[in-house]
Amino acid sequence: MLKLLNILACAALSVHLAAAQQAAYSVIPEPAKTNLTQGTARTLKLLSDKASPALGKDAYQLTVTPQGAHLSSGGKEGRIYGLVTLQQLQDQLAAHPEGIPCGVIKDKPRYPWRGMMVDPARHFIPMKDLKKFVDLMAYYKFNKLQLHLTDDQGWRLPVPGYPKLKSISSKRAESFGNGTPHEGMYTRQELKDLVAYCAARGIEVIPEIDMPGHNQALAAAYPEFFCFPDHNTKVSTIGGVGLYLVCPHKPEIWKFYAAVFDELRDIFPSTMVHLGGDEAPLEKTWEKCPLSVKYRQQKGMKDVHEELKEFEAKMASMLAARGKKPIFWYEKPWAQASVYRKGDTVFTWRMGLTPSTITETKKQGLPLIIAAGEHCYLDYPQIPGQDNRGWMPTTTLEQSYKLDPAYGRPEQETDHIIGVQATMWAEQLPTLNHLLYRTYPRACAIAEAGWSPMNVRSWENFQRKLADQRQFVLKRFNYNMERTKENEPPFK
Ligand SMILES: [Zn+2]
Repeated sequence: MLKLLNILACAALSVHLAAAQQAAYSVIPEPAKTNLTQGTARTLKLLSDKASPALGKDAYQLTVTPQGAHLSSGGKEGRIYGLVTLQQLQDQLAAHPEGIPCGVIKDKPRYPWRGMMVDPARHFIPMKDLKKFVDLMAYYKFNKLQLHLTDDQGWRLPVPGYPKLKSISSKRAESFGNGTPHEGMYTRQELKDLVAYCAARGIEVIPEIDMPGHNQALAAAYPEFFCFPDHNTKVSTIGGVGLYLVCPHKPEIWKFYAAVFDELRDIFPSTMVHLGGDEAPLEKTWEKCPLSVKYRQQKGMKDVHEELKEFEAKMASMLAARGKKPIFWYEKPWAQASVYRKGDTVFTWRMGLTPSTITETKKQGLPLIIAAGEHCYLDYPQIPGQDNRGWMPTTTLEQSYKLDPAYGRPEQETDHIIGVQATMWAEQLPTLNHLLYRTYPRACAIAEAGWSPMNVRSWENFQRKLADQRQFVLKRFNYNMERTKENEPPFK
């Protein structure tokens, strides 16, 4: 009995100790392992910076001593993450000049993919604003930036030989009836600069060219790419799911996408191109297109999804010729029709469907990234009563924090999950200020979901750290993460 009591007491003490160790530092995302040692550090000068390949390329170890800090890292990525942790500790020390405890942080990410998607298609994001956004991403150890470059409301990628993308597709007359024209297009050089800027911070840029749907802006410039060409098509000024799907039977589109992919190859070193694939109402478009009807009859295809499968396979082979692979938003009917090929990476996003999608993608051999609407859609309001365009659910900080990318399931059912991604659809995010307001502080929660093992995560500790992080971010980035019901910039 005494022995049992001793064991219980020790267990209670070790839980208490673990909690105390965690509470010593205000690092987000929470490191995988923290051990406090004797003493107090009043300086965090970097005393040594060593390569230790045995740690693994994205792992690092940071030792805080009374004289300063020692870093060892497994690779370029691990070194970047270790230096970021050191920055956060330096910010903590600046707020507590009496000193912070000495200790050893042994750290590496739970998942290799910790992404954020921004949507310059709906509202153009000038390059200097994107770089500020990237600075904050790096401070929270995100490592993938997905650029949603095309949609019904705008096309932002220049493509040689297609000047109307700039003169027509990159401009719209107004947004949601506000009467204010909006436009923007990146230059090839700006995008290359962004890629280099991100690479220096450990972030890979993945371009997204949404297809076959979400293409009204393209239709405004090149109506001949579509099943039912309408020369009066305008770039969309509202939201919603449109009927502008490119027609696979127009030879022009294959020439066009070859030019698009050439441009992507020259700008983005990433081996991935996101081909969208969400919200494509085939039944209202390809299903009725005379060219499609005839083609399906000739080929003996049973339905429009067989045609889609051929379309995506052709896109994949065009990308393969340029050293790239497609990735997709997951749509269940596409999966049922075997449109995805084994090994294709997909994102789960639709509200409520992530648990079933985890099961389905495991069976199909599809690597999965969790962008579950109910946790990761950071364009939704974060405090009840904030503007929701009449339909968006409120996703509180705690709701975002609750995400366990594995949904509590065992390793053997979830070993195809490669990470998490926050998405900021921008219909209602017209400026950097709007974008950052909704992104933070919920992105800190998603960062921790993607990085930290569940056994070191705690909502209470996260809230404590976040209070400190607000001060760090204000001082380091001149950005205020405080959120109240009233302090959101208004959307008009
Ligand atoms: Zn067609």
